[in-house]
Amino acid sequence: MSELLVTGGQVLRPDMTVERADVLVSQDSGDIVAVDEPGTLDGDDELDASDGLVIPGLVNAHTHVAMTLLRGLADDKPLDAWLQEDVWPVEAELTAEDIRAGAELGLVEMIRSGTTALSDMYFEVEEIADAVDQAGMRAVLGFTAVTVGKDDEAARSDLQESLDVARRLDGAAGGRIQTTFQPHSLTTVGEAYLREFVPQALEDDLSIHLHANETRDEVTPIVDDHGQRPLAYADDISLLDGDTYVAHGVHVDDSEIDLLAETGTGVAHCPASNMKLASGMAPVQDLLDAGVTVGIGTDGAASNNDLDMFDEMRDAAMIGKLAADDASAVDASTVVEMATANGAALLGFDSGRIETGANADLAVIDLDAPHLTPAHDLVSHLAYAVHGSDVRHTVCDGEVLMRDRTVEVFDEQAVRERASDHAAALVERAGD
Ligand SMILES: [Zn+2]
Repeated sequence: MSELLVTGGQVLRPDMTVERADVLVSQDSGDIVAVDEPGTLDGDDELDASDGLVIPGLVNAHTHVAMTLLRGLADDKPLDAWLQEDVWPVEAELTAEDIRAGAELGLVEMIRSGTTALSDMYFEVEEIADAVDQAGMRAVLGFTAVTVGKDDEAARSDLQESLDVARRLDGAAGGRIQTTFQPHSLTTVGEAYLREFVPQALEDDLSIHLHANETRDEVTPIVDDHGQRPLAYADDISLLDGDTYVAHGVHVDDSEIDLLAETGTGVAHCPASNMKLASGMAPVQDLLDAGVTVGIGTDGAASNNDLDMFDEMRDAAMIGKLAADDASAVDASTVVEMATANGAALLGFDSGRIETGANADLAVIDLDAPHLTPAHDLVSHLAYAVHGSDVRHTVCDGEVLMRDRTVEVFDEQAVRERASDHAAALVERAGD
């Protein structure tokens, strides 16, 4: 039996208090086996957490990890124009190898910034699954189906592929990979297709992940075509239930917030993407007050432009206050909970907390830095002052993914070079 001791640091506990403690992790079970007073536990291997804060590995509840290849390619445009003029033409040229290269780059970036779990929406999902397996991280993956602009055969094939991928990959990488059925959104998948395929997903107990109520332009056509708000329409198709989570949920009215709460549907809030694309301000405090589980996601790197969940926590707190017109809204401990325990609850992982019996997914923050001095309140620092680059070690499923800022699961230099090469060739092909 091999055990890893994370020693000498302070530990963030599930109730958001911080105490000096050592954390003992089983590398066989991948679980935390003890959290105890310093000096009372022994392991076969040690991670030095002195001058550090041990936190649960962060959970990125909504991303498109391979979109790192499009980082900085096109900025400063509204969602519709950005997708049609820049993103979709380049994505049409993506090969499986490109997606592998982009996924590896994104996973390295996440490991470096203390993220241990992600929920991804994309295609060539086998490549992403292989990359996640190598990364040693946890992920909820799926194939994203779109039917608009496609003939009936292509539309059906997309939705069937989304079901097949979800069935095939669930439980891969020794259980570190789980899956969702993924209709892209309520406006990009036709009603007849949703009514045919959603029941099949529910019959197989598949979780569902989709984009919803991201922009105002997405709400209006649904109200016009179906005579009801988007989430009422989604509920009518049985899309909302305890295993469903929607990305964004920006333009939701009170009736839709109630519907999310009643059905146990979660929300993956993506504040940076919502600000950058000027999509709007999600009413996060209202959602939380209604009892909706809200996690935090970076969305793809093309609309962020990084995958740093510390940035995202800060953004979530800031925009949450603006949306509520209340400086006490979406406070520091709330955003830390959103990025850890809430995200784990959305994705269905037993992680997101430093506690005996939980998954051994954690990160150690180096507190020995001017921007983290003094240390009145470390939860405040996590929400407002820590950067991804302050992460010293990252551990997932009991395995060390990064030790002393060196990523151990990938050759980082090779990953970066390969991603740069693939990105350059991709843009050149798309320009032809
Ligand atoms: Zn998205």
